Amino acid sequence: MKSVDTEVTTSSNHTFEMLDNIRIVMVNTTHPGNIGAAARAMKTMGLSDLVLVEPKKAIDDESIARSSGATDVLEAARIVPTLDDAIEDCGLVIGTSARSRSIPWPLLNPRQCAEQSVLTSKRQKVAIIFGREDRGLTNDELAKCNFHVHIPTNPEYSSLNIGAAIQVISYEMRMAIELSSKGDDQLWGVEWDRDLASSKELDGLIEHLEQVMIKSEFLDPENPRYIMTRMRRLFNRAMPDKVEVNVFRGILSAISKKFN
Ligand code: SAH
Repeated sequence: MKSVDTEVTTSSNHTFEMLDNIRIVMVNTTHPGNIGAAARAMKTMGLSDLVLVEPKKAIDDESIARSSGATDVLEAARIVPTLDDAIEDCGLVIGTSARSRSIPWPLLNPRQCAEQSVLTSKRQKVAIIFGREDRGLTNDELAKCNFHVHIPTNPEYSSLNIGAAIQVISYEMRMAIELSSKGDDQLWGVEWDRDLASSKELDGLIEHLEQVMIKSEFLDPENPRYIMTRMRRLFNRAMPDKVEVNVFRGILSAISKKFN
């Protein structure tokens, strides 16, 4: 016969199963110790999907020591060559940033980030991207995101250790589930009739749009300025579903034919 303890654990794990769909992505990490710290931060909050984009050094003894027993998360971590590989199957992508950037993006605080992530994770994969210890994420990497998230800090000293940043974000994910058991599910992509387009599908749409913009001589490829970044921001902000993206691509194909 199962003990009461086991039953309690089983039912609470069920409540938190959305966390399986929330992925932590670390880009070009320099210190293997920080990968271990990230694994520990994740495991304490019930997250387990860690993807490393081209870490500068492989997982080593320092990572294992800093993971403090979260070796299962380290062992299951996937290493991929590009950020696109890490996020291509995700319906929601959120980039972390310690400072503001030249083209502002829809910005969330950690609580709003968790609320949106947890709701989307009921149906689709979510990725939260963390940057390099020395330089954070590039503008191109941040442009691949639907939202940016900033952990409020002392403006004169705003940069957390990456493990600490992952801890804050993961904690908020867990808290959002605790609170959402009675909440309403009104946000995008949850009570929706179609799944949100994946990051790869949005990339396909934006490339298609760029081709048509060039073909029609609206966009000068020699002098693109920030037009494509602005278009990327528009589509990331709109969070189109799969059907909307297909319709848009159909329109682009129809326009394209007129130029042949
Ligand atoms: N000097 C870098 C900071 C890198 S800190 C810069 O200016 O961008 C390493 C990573 O930790 C960041 O890329 C981000 O993923 C996370 N991080 C640190 N502080 C943060 C904050 N206040 N809000 C959100 N993410 C933060």
